[in-house]
Amino acid sequence: MSSVQLYDTTLRDGAQREGVSFSVVDKLNITKKLDELGIHFIEGGWPGSNPKDIEFFDKAKSLSLSHAILVAFGSTRYPKTKAEDDANLLALASAGVKAATLVAKSSDLQVTQVLETTLEENLNMIADSVRYLKAKGLTVFLDAEHFFDGFKNDPDYSLRCLTAAAEAGADCLVLCDTNGGTLPDEITVAVEAAKKITEVPLGIHAHNDSALAVANTLAAVNTGVIQVQGTINGYGERCGNANLCSIIPNLKLKMGIDCVTDEQLAKLTEVSHYISEAANLAPDPFLPYVGASAFSHKAGLHVSGVTKWADSYQHIEPAEVGNRQRAVVSELSGRRNIIYKAKELGIDLPSKGKEIQKLLEQIKWLESRGFQYENAEASFELLLHRVKPDYQPPFELVDFMVVVETRRRLPTRKSLEETLAEVMIKVRVGTEVMHTAAEGNGPVNALDQALRKALLQFYPSLAAVKLVDYKVRILEESIGTESQVRVLIESSDGIEEWRTVGSSTNLIEASWLALADSLEYWLLKQKATNSLVKS
Ligand SMILES: [Zn+2]
Repeated sequence: MSSVQLYDTTLRDGAQREGVSFSVVDKLNITKKLDELGIHFIEGGWPGSNPKDIEFFDKAKSLSLSHAILVAFGSTRYPKTKAEDDANLLALASAGVKAATLVAKSSDLQVTQVLETTLEENLNMIADSVRYLKAKGLTVFLDAEHFFDGFKNDPDYSLRCLTAAAEAGADCLVLCDTNGGTLPDEITVAVEAAKKITEVPLGIHAHNDSALAVANTLAAVNTGVIQVQGTINGYGERCGNANLCSIIPNLKLKMGIDCVTDEQLAKLTEVSHYISEAANLAPDPFLPYVGASAFSHKAGLHVSGVTKWADSYQHIEPAEVGNRQRAVVSELSGRRNIIYKAKELGIDLPSKGKEIQKLLEQIKWLESRGFQYENAEASFELLLHRVKPDYQPPFELVDFMVVVETRRRLPTRKSLEETLAEVMIKVRVGTEVMHTAAEGNGPVNALDQALRKALLQFYPSLAAVKLVDYKVRILEESIGTESQVRVLIESSDGIEEWRTVGSSTNLIEASWLALADSLEYWLLKQKATNSLVKS
């Protein structure tokens, strides 16, 4: 099948998702990533609508993209004006790009109810605007907004909008399911109708309000559309846009359309995570293809299957999209899960020895007490190390004491009270016992401070470790009368992140366990890297 052009609008439509805002630097970095992924057209923003986008296009001139073409977005001229006087069109023409996308109404009701002009004037607006930008030497794509809804109400008018753009020289007519309410078979019918009235290549821009954006996009490609618009991770207004992280592998691996190279496809997971970081959103572990759970196996039966035959419970080879298979450790899992997981972590456990049995019993016991390792792989890795008879922990807690005090603050701010916590701990490192105390704005913070104080003298590199997230959950399935508290801590050394877990009937003890695991895990990793460097 002939190839498809990938058009990314993460920087414009994607940024319209609630809570997302990209800085100019983010936008420039994302542009480079999208170029590496093999995206053909990158829509950078709307220079006519905000100064940030003007700055972006200005700075983007010095980006050296390997093959992607940067596109500026804007709307057709206002009713009853001239194209050459339209500020928005002028901004597009002077953005320094080779291509522009013009959004135009292509539904009769939208023209009369929202644009409040005549059907005829809208056709003139489309034609004038396209002609103006073509005369400036740009490649022009027309986003036919509300095309599919318009086609249902008055197909003839929606098609006339396409003809107006085609006759004015548009290079691609992109049919938009702006409200995301269209079904795949309706997409097929409308695309067929558009194909009959024009020779100009067609594109698709689908929103996900009916959870069909990807399906609708593939239906359009099957009907002959050549440009596919979407966003990374499906970010976009309301429920989002068509997710390119699903579309790209579907096109390449399922439909045999070579829209990116194998090497580019293998960057998909990395790009997905990179952009979620830039958007300040946690990567969704359940996203198809790129999510951390997309190829994870929890049920013992599945894990037992994949250890025998990797493809038994997966639809593609995860490495093709840069993801990996992962076994989830849980009370559902058996011996094989543990062996598989240990192998994955590069820890050699004899499959027949007592260690595995001991470990299994220990995990069951810990899980019954509220520990959960699915999101705390670092704590799990420590369990594997601890069953080895020769394991030497880098430090051990002897005991700790916590005092929490609520104090009145300054009399002028008498409504504010301050909680102060003081912690004293005793920690053993080798043969030495360290005794330290620290204050913090809460018990966990104080505990963290005191522990670091004790350990930094032995392990100065620990200064790089920071707590980035701390979650507490009160467990309903409590043991006896007291409820169990689970603490999950996420830590980072600026390069890698890892998660640890602690559980107890006491919040402070649960926090301590998660905290101590975090530092122990990091020290263990450091030791492994150092010994690698030395050898
Ligand atoms: Zn859109």
